[in-house]
Amino acid sequence: MVGKLEFHENDDLPDKDVARDFYAKYEPKEVLGKGVSSIVRRCIEKETGYEYAAKIIDVSSDPDDSQGFTLLQASHREVAILHLAAGHPYIITLHDVFESSTYIFLVFEICKNGELFDYLTSVVALSEKRTRTIMKQLFESVDYIHSKGIVHRDLKPENILLDDNYNIKVTDFGFARMVQPGEKMNDLCGTPGYLAPELLRASMYEDAEGYGFEVDLWACGVIMYTLLVGFPPFWHRKQMIMLRNIMEGKYEFCSPEWDDITEEAKDLIRKLLVIDPSKRINAKEALKHCFFRSKKTPVKKFNARKTFKLAILCVRVLIRIRQYRYTPEVLNMDIIRFEPYKIKLLRKAIDGCAFRVYHHWVKRGEVQNRAALFENRPKVEMKLAYQDTGVSHFHHF
Ligand code: ADP
Ligand code: MG
Repeated sequence: MVGKLEFHENDDLPDKDVARDFYAKYEPKEVLGKGVSSIVRRCIEKETGYEYAAKIIDVSSDPDDSQGFTLLQASHREVAILHLAAGHPYIITLHDVFESSTYIFLVFEICKNGELFDYLTSVVALSEKRTRTIMKQLFESVDYIHSKGIVHRDLKPENILLDDNYNIKVTDFGFARMVQPGEKMNDLCGTPGYLAPELLRASMYEDAEGYGFEVDLWACGVIMYTLLVGFPPFWHRKQMIMLRNIMEGKYEFCSPEWDDITEEAKDLIRKLLVIDPSKRINAKEALKHCFFRSKKTPVKKFNARKTFKLAILCVRVLIRIRQYRYTPEVLNMDIIRFEPYKIKLLRKAIDGCAFRVYHHWVKRGEVQNRAALFENRPKVEMKLAYQDTGVSHFHHF
């Protein structure tokens, strides 16, 4: 990791413009994703040819956030936390940092398979097996950052990336904070559908207790629910109703989507989506939950309509396979012209014709290579014999 600058929350703008250094070292390519105040581009390190993802944050239009932090200070905090969270297989690695008076460039390892969100959209819902793998990796990374005193506060499928092997990389530490054990936060941040009830309470009531690390586990519950069925637990067209449902912990395992999902999976979600944060399962405990020990595939209930549909499909496939046997292979003109004997269909036809004409010459055992019958070049002995006698000697052949 090449850190260009030492970052502290109260840093002033550097005099030196290092944007040029970024463009000298990296070649920016297409956009991989966009955030509220950032653009992420694929880029290539000129010296090595390696690919990275550069998050380019525009700090020129610099509004203060709810706590009065400028975007620049927030970016410094993000970098400091990324350094602290580094070294875990499921957390994004920051490779390089550049800062100019208007932009900050964070160069990350690249995740070729994009966001978990897009992956989920493409497959609609994940199997329990796949969900188990992803959630295990997510709990491991959450356990790791919590052990370092970091709370992420914006866990969601858009901020979970997939590398070449479809392993996760937790990213976007833009809302992350360092907290002391027992310390509580009060500021409202995150993404509506993933906000924990205590976080909403803290932003609504003056005398609320505040919130801590547990908000990340609530978000994990929302993520796990969404992965298994493809829609979130608290969504409502009217955001006010959605927020009220969150505060009341009002969600359900609706039918038919949840009918085939195991009790172990539902139990873990129930233990994550607990209104009282002190009663919510933590990441270490979640990893020990029976959902991660279960090798069970969900028991499918008998569904007459589904079974009938499947039977029809099987019959159709069988008919199609049978038809393939009679479908001639695709013919290539060059092969037909120069090596007709290579093609089974032609070979059979030629053999058939030739044998009908010449079968009386082919004594059993004498002609091993039937293809010789169709060679274009005349046999040498035959040519010589013809020259010697001046008569046809086909029967010498
Ligand atoms: P923001 O804080 O603006 O939301 P993110 O860090 O979440 O910024 O990045 C925005 C988007 O850019 C991500 O959701 C993702 O689609 C894409 N992205 C970010 N980092 C990478 C990366 N390392 N590899 C591939 N795509 C990335
Ligand atoms: Mg993001």
